[in-house]
Amino acid sequence: MNANLFSRLFDTVTDPDRLAIETADGGRISYGNLIERSGRLANYLAARGVKVGDRVAVQAEKSVQALVLYLATVRAGAVYLPLNTAYTLNELDYFIGDAEPALVVCDPARLEGVSALAGKVGAVVETLDAAGGGTLSVGAARCDADFSTVQRSPDDLAAILYTSGTTGRSKGAMLSHDNLASNSLTLVDYWRFTDKDVLIHALPIYHTHGLFVASNVVLFARAAMIFLPKFDPNQVIDLMARATVLMGVPTFYTRLLQNPRLDRETTARMRLFVSGSAPLLADTHREWAARTGHAVLERYGMTETNMNTSNPYDGDRVPGAVGLPLPGVTVRVTEPETGKVLPADEIGVIEVKGPNVFKGYWRMPEKTRTEFRDDGFFITGDLGKIDGRGYVHILGRGKDLVISGGFNVYPKEVESEIDAMPGVVESAVIGVPHADFGEGVTAVVVADKAAGLTEDRVIKALDGRLAKFKMPKRVLFVDTLPRNTMGKIQKNVLRDSYAELYVKAQ
Ligand code: AMP
Repeated sequence: MNANLFSRLFDTVTDPDRLAIETADGGRISYGNLIERSGRLANYLAARGVKVGDRVAVQAEKSVQALVLYLATVRAGAVYLPLNTAYTLNELDYFIGDAEPALVVCDPARLEGVSALAGKVGAVVETLDAAGGGTLSVGAARCDADFSTVQRSPDDLAAILYTSGTTGRSKGAMLSHDNLASNSLTLVDYWRFTDKDVLIHALPIYHTHGLFVASNVVLFARAAMIFLPKFDPNQVIDLMARATVLMGVPTFYTRLLQNPRLDRETTARMRLFVSGSAPLLADTHREWAARTGHAVLERYGMTETNMNTSNPYDGDRVPGAVGLPLPGVTVRVTEPETGKVLPADEIGVIEVKGPNVFKGYWRMPEKTRTEFRDDGFFITGDLGKIDGRGYVHILGRGKDLVISGGFNVYPKEVESEIDAMPGVVESAVIGVPHADFGEGVTAVVVADKAAGLTEDRVIKALDGRLAKFKMPKRVLFVDTLPRNTMGKIQKNVLRDSYAELYVKAQ
């Protein structure tokens, strides 16, 4: 058997006319079309000198052709390396230098700058624009559609995805054919995907969520997806009339809730709403259930591991929890320094093991060694606990832990108390350098103006609900919290903004 992800996805297609992708402008791409187009492109990649194991780095707007490029790269036995469209040339310089791709694909507007960078590592350059045009597509159109999918073993690399890296250099997570295939097949089963499903695909495809979770799950299930260039709440609500599943980041759900058209009727045909990549507030979960009658299914994963846990399809979808370990995945919580496994309800670092876990960081063997335990568990860096029912709860990234006066303060504990106050929209709790305490617990809050909340009122309300050492020393009000494109609050940005807070005060 060929363990190439492409073979596992497409070798058993029996109905090539079945619809795989529909575009916002009415384009319809069948499974047969995907096989044919990826064949032409794989032949073109080979003609451009891409060999088995070579990296193909891609910074392109979302389009069907960009997805076909992913499939063609994997099919050709090369390693797909998607790059966030927001990266500047300066940032691309690092990724291209580090990954040494054989081919770089970029937007035509970037050709000159990218060519200079690619030249340094001897890579060739092709262009791909938002409409799927460019030199890559012109070249592929001249090639034969027949391509014999390259033989790969389960552990051979299919993709490298750089982690967002808020501290230090981004690291390239090496993902194998079996990492991707096994996780998607598990999710098809767990989330009950069938060929009747139609997914609203409004996520970017340079990130694990939109590229692997959404696209691979749909293709393995022989389902269809409506491929949208970006998330537009009105358009998504329109599409709910003929779709069955939405996969989103929490901001999709908060923005949809702001839309008066969202109700039981507009969501009646949908069978599943999935959220991940950042924490979904328990309040958002409850509000969504009250408005639509659907319980959002929250799951937890990361670039390095694909998906680890998910709330159940049947059974309790617990607000604020990320659910149970997926079949085949083992999750445990340990004491960070010693690796001692902790009992239920104790907070520590989350570790995972399973066929979903990556092969290590690209050209960083030392870093890889320190992130794995001797028995093969990957140390995620997320702090959390497992409750008595086996549900995993995340309390934030380890590096966001606040240590004040020698005590650990888990931001989520403080945030949950603040978020529960009337008038609070959301909050972020950070540690800011403080001469006496090491770090001062600091709350940054978004509130409804009409509620008239003040720093004093928040602190008074928390008094008696939180231990003294967890109490925020300052509560600051802002209009919005800084977020990255996947909806994650950028606490590092907040820490930088308020770095001088307690210095000034003294
Ligand atoms: P990324 O590699 O960009 O997908 O980011 C992975 C990180 O996002 C994880 O390590 C978590 O810190 C966070 N994350 C993903 N899903 C969730 C979730 N459902 N709840 C809370 N945090 C999440």
